Amino acid sequence: MTNYALAIHGGAGTILKSLMTPEKENQYRQGLKDAIEAGEAILKNKGTALDAVEAAVRSLENNPLFNAGRGAVFTNDGKNELDASIMRGDTLQAGAVAGVRNIKNPVSLARAIMEKSEHVLMCGEGAATFARSIDAEFADDAYFFVQARYDQLQEAKKTDRVFLDHSGEASAEDNKKKFGTVGAVALDVHGNIAAATSTGGMTNKKFGRAGDSPIIGAGTYANNKTCAVSCTGHGEFFIRSVVAYDISCLMEYKGLSLKDACDEVVHKKLVKIGGEGGLVALDANGNIELPFNSEGMYRASVKQGEEIATAIYRD
Ligand code: ASP
Repeated sequence: MTNYALAIHGGAGTILKSLMTPEKENQYRQGLKDAIEAGEAILKNKGTALDAVEAAVRSLENNPLFNAGRGAVFTNDGKNELDASIMRGDTLQAGAVAGVRNIKNPVSLARAIMEKSEHVLMCGEGAATFARSIDAEFADDAYFFVQARYDQLQEAKKTDRVFLDHSGEASAEDNKKKFGTVGAVALDVHGNIAAATSTGGMTNKKFGRAGDSPIIGAGTYANNKTCAVSCTGHGEFFIRSVVAYDISCLMEYKGLSLKDACDEVVHKKLVKIGGEGGLVALDANGNIELPFNSEGMYRASVKQGEEIATAIYRD
């Protein structure tokens, strides 16, 4: 039996201690703790990595502090459009949704697409029709309304800018640099790994814009032979750098360790093209990496027999 491991993120960006109240910080840490405990409970009971990443991401989706599910940011026309994906490292099966509305837990819809359809990615109305056909849980607009997020949209509209952001407490300039996607990677006692990601995308986004989160290989990837990865950051750069799959490729074809592969992509390749953000990653040996090139990243990790660690800022 393998020792289990789990890591999650709640977004990366300009997260400064100077802009955080102790109360807010505690709320974020508690949100991370709740999510990682939800995932760990499954792994402890010899459950699967797939179930663990889904449970951890659902917990973050249900928490209005994070830009996913309930706390999703607003589009230019005042709606919430959600993206999510999930992948299992043993069979390389994957599922994803882009631009869905009123879905309570997009990560679970992504999983249903993987398990109950012959497709990988469904978008918008079509995805909603599929969701109804499998009795997925819907929630009304009021469920997704978070005042701080709505205020952010008004702020973004003033300058007609698109914010990759999840927090209303900083200045507009800082807001531009915050990313609120959530994600998880897990290794179970059976030796299998999995990854999942979920997001509301960017405040004030238009034209059905989707970022890296629903794109397998960009925002999410898992392969038992290499690693499981879930990303957060400026999606356009993560798509162009095929971040999650690139880390896996560096391990598979070049024999790099998880750490060296993460360093190469997050601290060199992405930095070179101006791609801000980070990711959580682990391999089948239980090594965990939580790299980011931004000021901070909401993150937590746990390994079998060890305490849960949560962190927000650069150490
Ligand atoms: N990567 C996400 C996107 O571009 C944003 C985020 O990480 O907050 O949609």
